Amino acid sequence: MQTPAWLFQCVQRWRSARLDGASVQGEATMESLRRYRTIACCVLPLHLAIAWIFSRFSPPTSHPEWARWAELVSLSHWCAAAGVAVSGWWAHWYLVKRQRATGGAVALQIGIAAAYLYFGAHVALLDLRFETGAGSSTFMVICVMFGVLALMRPAITVPLFSATYVIFSYLLENTEVNPNQLLSLRVMAFVAPALALLTSTINWSQYSRAVLLRRQLRRSNEALQLQKQELAYLADHDALTGLFNRREFMRLADMELQRGRRVPAETSVIMLDIDFFKKVNDQFGHPGGDAVLQSTAATLRKALRVTDTLARMGGEEFIVLLPGTGEDGARLVAEKMREAVEDMVTPFEAESIVITASLGVSTLRATDWSDFEALYAAADRALYVAKQTGRNRVEFAVPESSERKPHR
Ligand code: GH3
Ligand code: MG
Ligand code: MG
Repeated sequence: MQTPAWLFQCVQRWRSARLDGASVQGEATMESLRRYRTIACCVLPLHLAIAWIFSRFSPPTSHPEWARWAELVSLSHWCAAAGVAVSGWWAHWYLVKRQRATGGAVALQIGIAAAYLYFGAHVALLDLRFETGAGSSTFMVICVMFGVLALMRPAITVPLFSATYVIFSYLLENTEVNPNQLLSLRVMAFVAPALALLTSTINWSQYSRAVLLRRQLRRSNEALQLQKQELAYLADHDALTGLFNRREFMRLADMELQRGRRVPAETSVIMLDIDFFKKVNDQFGHPGGDAVLQSTAATLRKALRVTDTLARMGGEEFIVLLPGTGEDGARLVAEKMREAVEDMVTPFEAESIVITASLGVSTLRATDWSDFEALYAAADRALYVAKQTGRNRVEFAVPESSERKPHR
């Protein structure tokens, strides 16, 4: 027999609510303990004051049995004060030392609620037995207080308040109370925990929804931050190789040349273009070509100094700026780069890809002032010559005066 769709949906919803409830309970317990710590500070003096007042109570001559009642009420409040002091300190310990809810913290939260509910039932029954005091209202107030303040999921509150009802009813039936009040007391024994259960369920659903929403918000915020960082990274880096992109390279190169004007120094640039790269793509596919570009970037990075600026200009073309390096030095670096690329082996699937590269070098002398365009154009010219004269080689070109812009 097939499960009806509505029943299936109900079960699914109940399961997800149960999982959500379990995941929120830790946070809720810490919040409950925080609330309880504050309340304990207020109710502790209250219990002590009540215990002291009742210990000094002298009954009227018409009701000498009230002396016993006062004695028992006083004793109950002394015990409650001790319980509040210990549990309040315990809650404080969990909040300060553990800072996150453990099974022990949840057990403490349940223990506090159960003990207080029992205390409310006990004092109420004392009043009822001696037909004096606040009667059943103590029990009612404590039930509702825990319904409002203790953030517990229904998996805890249903058994807790059901047990409260059963225990209070049992004690009520075994206590000598005014038979005229018995029916209304039986109703109250049911209504107080039921009201508490209703309040706590409403409270819990609102609280857990807020916590889950807050978590979702935090997660999307984190994802947004990550995206922002990634975008900022991609604004000046090449996604495939992780090197600077053309735009960032141009900015850094311009900055370097500006500095060179104030502190005259030679600056060189090397352009590198992989030979017959189209063939790599044709033979190994685009992923094979990408793997070669990545290993070329890593090889060049290793071959250069950290002060040299390496970037991918686009396609299979790389560029290096060498601040404070003259023609001889730049030629040496270019040759080292050429050899490194020639020796490089890129493993791809079951094969090994081997490539070569051609390089164009250009140097701006310390006495010549120009912008980066001239240096770039000269290196490009040198690269063209390297391609034309057989590839896998280094060529040098001097920036021409027509390419050089005068110092502004
Ligand atoms: P040459 O020796 O004259 O430089 O020949 P070449 O084949 O290297 O040069 P060409 O400019 O004709 O081809 C460059 C190829 O690089 C064409 C293009 O599809 C490929 N390419 C450009 N960018 C990428 C990329 O990001 N990944 C891959 N796999 N290939 C790219
Ligand atoms: Mg090219
Ligand atoms: Mg090429």
